[in-house]
Amino acid sequence: SMLSPKTREMISKREKYLGGAYRLFYRKPINIVRGEGDYLWDDEGNKYLDMYNNVAGVGHCNPAVVNAVTEQMKTLNTHTRYLHEKILDYSEELLALMPDEINKIMYMCTGSEANDLALRVAEAYTGGTGIIITQEAYHGTSALTSGCSPSLGAGQPLLPNVRLITAPDYYRHGGTPEEFTAWYASEMQKTIDELNEAGYKFSCFLADSIFSSDGIYPDPVGFLKATVDVVHKNGGVFIADEVQPGFARTGQAFFGFARHGIVPDMITMGKPMGNGIPISGLAAKEDVLAAFSDKLPYFNTFGGNPVSIAAAQAVLKYIKDENLQEHCKKAGAALLKALKEVQKRHPESVGDVRGAGLFLGFEFVKNDGNKTPDKDMALNVIEMLRDEHILTSVIGHYGNILKLRPPMVFSENDIDWFATSLDKCITKLENK
Ligand code: PMP
Repeated sequence: SMLSPKTREMISKREKYLGGAYRLFYRKPINIVRGEGDYLWDDEGNKYLDMYNNVAGVGHCNPAVVNAVTEQMKTLNTHTRYLHEKILDYSEELLALMPDEINKIMYMCTGSEANDLALRVAEAYTGGTGIIITQEAYHGTSALTSGCSPSLGAGQPLLPNVRLITAPDYYRHGGTPEEFTAWYASEMQKTIDELNEAGYKFSCFLADSIFSSDGIYPDPVGFLKATVDVVHKNGGVFIADEVQPGFARTGQAFFGFARHGIVPDMITMGKPMGNGIPISGLAAKEDVLAAFSDKLPYFNTFGGNPVSIAAAQAVLKYIKDENLQEHCKKAGAALLKALKEVQKRHPESVGDVRGAGLFLGFEFVKNDGNKTPDKDMALNVIEMLRDEHILTSVIGHYGNILKLRPPMVFSENDIDWFATSLDKCITKLENK
């Protein structure tokens, strides 16, 4: 076998002890033992460039976060039923980064819990149950959110009150920004009409504003505003799932929705919020949240605990002190430029390269003039990149798009490593 004895042993123990629903990355799985910045090391001392992990936004094992967590863990860790100053300070600081209308926040441990609560709040506020999500969305692990996660595949039926809106694939749809904007807004109206015809009163549109699982569709900037206007005109609320685009990554704004000039009714966030310490949040307009909290208490044992908040505070401070939003913009633009050069050298395999800040998609298509997705090419490329010690993965309905989303501390010095390796892999596959 091409696998080392140690790797084979670990895989067999995994199969023996862990539930079967877990999935490993790579045909040759990697035993990662250490991380720092945007690098990871395996058990043989090999150094990898992490082009994928958006949880470690401020870098793997960021010392400021490690220190804040350690100090708080040594001092106290309780919950939200006692007064604690850190949660108040952090909430004030985080809400200041959101539109003025969003003035309340609640804390959980996972993005799934944030979305789950947001859906319940939306129902309480609108009196409707009809939910609209995008075609390849992923929103979480709970019964409610996995029923809103078509990306889980055929084994996971959607809730009966869920309808899908097509992904805003500007690469395939084309047109002027105005035409595209109007088209997507009309798709929203059509989808709301479908819900109404099926007897479900419209409640909400839950979407990731950069459409991470659908294939990364950041352009044209601002197109989503008209769609959200349609949501509001029909009495629904817009929940911005910022689990992936949030916390400065897109460069243009601290939150992804802000690129579109939107004021959401609710914002959910997670992943990079605590740089790996579990913490997530649901921020909302006061009257929207009140529809739920006037009726029900909410207690999440670990949600908003002092240790998680300490991590989140350190993350926010680091993003601000190091001006990471500006860095994402600059490094992201440089990476995009380098990838467009790779595309130019491989017009027969690469259909589109797009992105906002350090959130990029690199799309493989067949050379048939029809932009036919090339899944095999994408899968082979990520396996070959792995052998070049570069980590990433694929997304989209056809799995033909490389998802490039390194820790935000990604250095422009590593662009060459990535672009050269990518070019080499594509060349090899084209000459096969
Ligand atoms: N929403 C989006 C857009 C996500 O990408 C994810 C996680 N991949 C979630 C929600 C769920 O977050 P968690 O895994 O923390 O529950």
